[in-house]
Amino acid sequence: MITIALSKGRIFEETLPLLAAAGIVPAEAPESTRKLIIGTNQPDVQLIIVRASDVPTYVQYGAADLGVAGKDVLLEHGGQGLYQPLDLEIAKCALMVATQNGFDYEGAVKQGARMRIATKYTEQAKEHFAAKGVHVDLIKLYGSMELAPLVGLADAIVDLVSTGGTLKANNLVAVEHIRDISSRLVVNQSSLKLKHERLQPMLDAFAATVANRHA
Ligand code: ATP
Ligand code: MG
Repeated sequence: MITIALSKGRIFEETLPLLAAAGIVPAEAPESTRKLIIGTNQPDVQLIIVRASDVPTYVQYGAADLGVAGKDVLLEHGGQGLYQPLDLEIAKCALMVATQNGFDYEGAVKQGARMRIATKYTEQAKEHFAAKGVHVDLIKLYGSMELAPLVGLADAIVDLVSTGGTLKANNLVAVEHIRDISSRLVVNQSSLKLKHERLQPMLDAFAATVANRHA
C-alpha cells in the first residue's frame, strides 16, 4: 500500500492534477466525507487527510509514504527523516512581516527598539530577526494573526500573504518579505528505498507535470 498525506483545501485541490498525471483519482473529496482515509482508483494507493502542519510528522514516521506540505510547515517542522525531491510550485504565497498602516517599522528597527512579534511561524521569525540583529519578543499564535496588532498584542506579525486582501481589510501593510513559499513533495526516506519500484514512476509523473506547466 502507498499512503499519501494531504491537507484539505488548497493543497488537496492543487495536488489533484498531479495525482491524475500519475493515474491516481481519489474516490471521494475530503469536503464531502468525514472519512480521514480516502481510497483511490488504484487499489494500492490511499490518501490520508491531516492538518497541514501534521503532514511532515506522518511522513517522518512512515505512517504515510508521501505527502505534500508547504515550505513554511517544513521549516517549522525541521524536515527530519524527510526527503524533499520536488517543489510542486502550488499553494504559492510569501512569508512577510506586516504592521498596522502607519507604524514606523524601519524606524523601530533602526532604533533597535524591542518589538513584539505575533506569529504561528516562530522558528522562521526567530531566525529572520536574529539574522537582522533585531531583538524581538515572539508571541505564539495559531491563527488570525492579523488581529494582534489591532488590539495591541503585538507591534508586527509574521504571516503568509498571497493577495494581501486580508492585510488590507484589517488596515495592515506588508513591510518586509522574508521568503517565497510553495508546497513540496515530501517522501519518507525508507519508503523511497523499500517501495522504490512503485514510487519512482509516481515521482517522475509529478515532476513531468510540474515541468510541463512551464512548457
Ligand atoms: P490549518 O488551517 O490546519 O491551521 P493552514 O492554515 O496552514 O493550517 P491551509 O490554509 O490549508 O492550512 O494552508 C496550507 C498551506 O498552503 C500552508 O502551509 C501554506 O504553505 C499555503 N498557504 C497558506 N496560506 C496561503 C495563501 N493565502 N495562498 C496560497 N497558499 C497559502
Ligand atoms: Mg489556513
